[in-house]
Amino acid sequence: MLPFKLVYSDGYYLPIGPHVFPAQKYKLIHDRLLAERIASTTDFLTPQPASDDDILRVHTPEYVGKLKQGRLSPQEELAMEIPYSPELVRAFWLAAGGSILAAQRALADGIGFNIGGGFHHAFPNHGEGFCMIHDVAVAIRKLIHDTVIRHAMTIDCDVHQGNGTAAIFAAHSPNGAPLPSAAPRPLERRREASMTLGAAGEVFTVSLHQHNNYPAWKPPSSIDVNLPDGTGDDEYLAWLDQALSSAFRHSEPQLICYIAGADPYAEDQLGGLSLTIDGLKRRDELVFRAARTRGIPVMVTYAGGYARNVEDTVTIHCNTVAAARETVDRTAARHS
Ligand SMILES: [Zn+2]
Repeated sequence: MLPFKLVYSDGYYLPIGPHVFPAQKYKLIHDRLLAERIASTTDFLTPQPASDDDILRVHTPEYVGKLKQGRLSPQEELAMEIPYSPELVRAFWLAAGGSILAAQRALADGIGFNIGGGFHHAFPNHGEGFCMIHDVAVAIRKLIHDTVIRHAMTIDCDVHQGNGTAAIFAAHSPNGAPLPSAAPRPLERRREASMTLGAAGEVFTVSLHQHNNYPAWKPPSSIDVNLPDGTGDDEYLAWLDQALSSAFRHSEPQLICYIAGADPYAEDQLGGLSLTIDGLKRRDELVFRAARTRGIPVMVTYAGGYARNVEDTVTIHCNTVAAARETVDRTAARHS
């Protein structure tokens, strides 16, 4: 039995037809976790869909109305890059409910996984890049609304910058007033990679991503690490380590939302970084270790992963569960 819960539903399947996004990956991960005895059936929890009130803490009433009534314009559907259907809307409401439950479990158990979610390209008023609803933001706003937490941090290691996350959380202070939009200032440069520290909103947002990739417009996160094409394991991990140190100097979150995209992998079809499967697991360990040494709960979502061989994507996502378990076991051993 795992020392934390995995939130999953067959309803996470995205009915989008033939697509570069492997819509079946959530079930493949679920099945592999059981087949390899990384998890047992009692480790899984079934989520409920988020309520419309939960969704409306992040998304505008106009956008939610269009989704519920099927009134997206062709341009809006094109920007989302996945075909609209009422079933798709249900899948995204369910993914958001899953992230809420995973975040609540993280606060109870130290770690909570949503075997789905991580739709970090969704904005308050539109969807983009395979993302309709920003489940992570919905979960954070729900916990803040319920006064369970006051401060959160997102650590986004998907290969694509977390533009929706940055836009949702950078523009407003905790009371909803706009923050002065400070231009990001360069912190330091190493080779071609760079790290910038921008304004911190109600949530401290960290994004490590390939600079030369979607999205073209990258609204500033609290910390953005722009990585050059072909960045490999060692350089990536050094930048992640540095970004985490800097983030914890500027923020004391009560919850970390780790967006554990599998697409920094060298064999990814939509990514241009060069991490190995082993390097990605070391990435996960670095995040979990940094959180646990500070006693901060971590909620995990999966975001992207488009490996030429879908089994590699499944391996990378399953390894994140294994990395969490190993980190917990090591910490427990040190304390016993
Ligand atoms: Zn991605």
